[in-house]
Amino acid sequence: MTNYSKILERDQQYLWHPYSAMHSDHPIYPVSSAHGVHIKLADGRQLIDGMSSWWSAIHGYNHPVINQAICDQLQNMSHIMFGGLTHQPAADLATQLVEITPASLQTVFFVDSGSVAVEVAIKMAIQYWYARKQPEKNKLLTIRQGYHGDTFGAMSVSDPVNGMHRLFAESLSPQFFADAPRCRFDQPCLAADIAPLALQLQNHHQHIAAVILEPIVQGAGGMNFYSPDYLKQVRSLCDQYQVLLILDEIATGFGRTGQLFACQHAAIEPDILCLGKALTGGYMTLAATLSTLDISQTISNGEPGVFMHGPTFMANPLACSAALASLKILLDSPWQQRIKQIEKHLTTGLAPCKQFPQVKDVRVLGAIGVVEMHQAIDLKTLQPQFVDAGVWVRPFNRLIYLMPPYIIDTQQLNVLTHAITKIVSTLCQE
Ligand SMILES: *Cc1c(COP(=O)(O)O)cnc(C)c1O
Repeated sequence: MTNYSKILERDQQYLWHPYSAMHSDHPIYPVSSAHGVHIKLADGRQLIDGMSSWWSAIHGYNHPVINQAICDQLQNMSHIMFGGLTHQPAADLATQLVEITPASLQTVFFVDSGSVAVEVAIKMAIQYWYARKQPEKNKLLTIRQGYHGDTFGAMSVSDPVNGMHRLFAESLSPQFFADAPRCRFDQPCLAADIAPLALQLQNHHQHIAAVILEPIVQGAGGMNFYSPDYLKQVRSLCDQYQVLLILDEIATGFGRTGQLFACQHAAIEPDILCLGKALTGGYMTLAATLSTLDISQTISNGEPGVFMHGPTFMANPLACSAALASLKILLDSPWQQRIKQIEKHLTTGLAPCKQFPQVKDVRVLGAIGVVEMHQAIDLKTLQPQFVDAGVWVRPFNRLIYLMPPYIIDTQQLNVLTHAITKIVSTLCQE
């Protein structure tokens, strides 16, 4: 038996994968290594990566500078508890994050994953109003088609249908929802777009601690790009009704949309910001929740006098070192220019898909390209077609999308967009 089939056999027997069934007949591909934009399968085939391992591997795989940073840190210590102790990688990274994020964000809470960064953000918002002696402000308001993670607090503010709120009805905190805006990225926000959220705020602001949103790009909930104008109006409504604004930039952060942070398209600042995914360049799991000084001080000076959260692996030094190296690579690179070039190529490369009747929409923003179909696609038959075409593309539901590493070149981008165009065209002949 080959190594490839041995891995597969044990995988089949023992392993769960994200959002999948045990012992399913969906294809799974053993990977032996990854370099730059290439993923090498254990049977020797090589794929061009169109996914950046879900938004995270922005510099490609096996980057010598991040490798070295982790090796260096490993010689000192791979981990140390963060209760009562601190270290340079955490202090350096917090300083950098405060410097590059919007000015009002002044403090940093490190956690192990995006979902937990969202949990921390929700706790901060609730604890803030508790400390201000308004404990009845303890609900969240959000828009439909959002995605904020898989833990219970994060699930409670994710889209009720996609997030299967029905299934978890007894266990999820009920929150307030408003319809998502229809205005696209390049369109003005109409009264009808903002009205649903404005109405919820008007009716329930006494009970709302914070609005939580993915700025500009709704990711896993539908890959929708909405108008910066909408985000501006949300900011002023939050001010008007004394509600905090949490922005979840776990997917959009670190340049993906063409701005370092997506909220910069709207020139607004949140009260709380969640970062994750690309934070370590896709190397290790690390996320962060930043907040204003007002929030941090109010929580610290109020009842019970401490913020009630503290993960075992908080501010893991290896992960902080990877993040510092990744940030340096990003900020030293011509990333704006690269994202613009990727945007241009995705726009022309995916445009032919518009002609096919099964395609509902094609949209591109920054280094994100989306082909939205009318019907859900059959991953079981499509996934092998992409692999045969030499690309790693992982569609979900009605969406075939690309978010390649920023280092991808024109020719590699062409391979990705040709593969999508060709596979979509054969879908449309059936
Ligand atoms: C991926 C994602 C999360 C959850 O992050 P995990 O690291 O998977 O827990 C939260 N919010 C957004 C916007 C995301 O894209």
